[in-house]
Amino acid sequence: MNNKLESSELYLGDVKKLPEKISAVLLTTSRCMLDCFHCYNYPLEGDLSLKNHLKVLQNLYDIGVYRIVFTGGECLMLLHLIELLKDSQEHGVLNTVSTNGILLTPKKLEEIHPYTKMMDISLNSLNQDTNRKMIKNYFDGYEKLILKRIDMVVESGILLNVNVLVSKINLLDIPDLLEVLKSKKINSVKLFEHSAIRGRASENHQYILERKHFIVYMNGLSKNFMI
Ligand code: SF4
Repeated sequence: MNNKLESSELYLGDVKKLPEKISAVLLTTSRCMLDCFHCYNYPLEGDLSLKNHLKVLQNLYDIGVYRIVFTGGECLMLLHLIELLKDSQEHGVLNTVSTNGILLTPKKLEEIHPYTKMMDISLNSLNQDTNRKMIKNYFDGYEKLILKRIDMVVESGILLNVNVLVSKINLLDIPDLLEVLKSKKINSVKLFEHSAIRGRASENHQYILERKHFIVYMNGLSKNFMI
């Protein structure tokens, strides 16, 4: 048995300390095609097999998890994601798929739709120059593609949240982004502080807004948007 499963089983020993309603975030893969400067992904040696992923899920069911956020890396790169979503739903768990949206083709959405209650899509700016700075593997048409993915999820009826990271690079673009998102029927927008805790993000402390500046910035936004 590998370390990941062992640590998951050790966690079971602490089950009495857990609150009644537990949700879990499952890092399904550390692979991602974008390589963002703010990524604090744990680099894993490889993806777990379907069998081992199912064992991890079973551990989560055993401790009474009611909701699982399937994330990564980019979770749509995991070939057996659908099997995990299906298994989780069959155990009565509410599934959220958290994605950068790149691989969310109409066919992929159709496949995951029956097993997905909510989705998170990340979008930090609609400005090409900003995104070029934030995303190492940026490609032309990125913004248009993600907005199209957002529209597609809204139309599908899956509840949608858009995740927006706030850093020194994109803060001036956020009001315009929020205006555009406001015009769409998404369910929520979450703004996050850039936190350089690990991974590539830990090499990019210079883009972090000081906490006091972040608070002032968020207060300013809240005058125009419901935050
Ligand atoms: S921040 Fe998200 S989209 Fe960007 S490289 Fe990391 S996992 Fe991929």
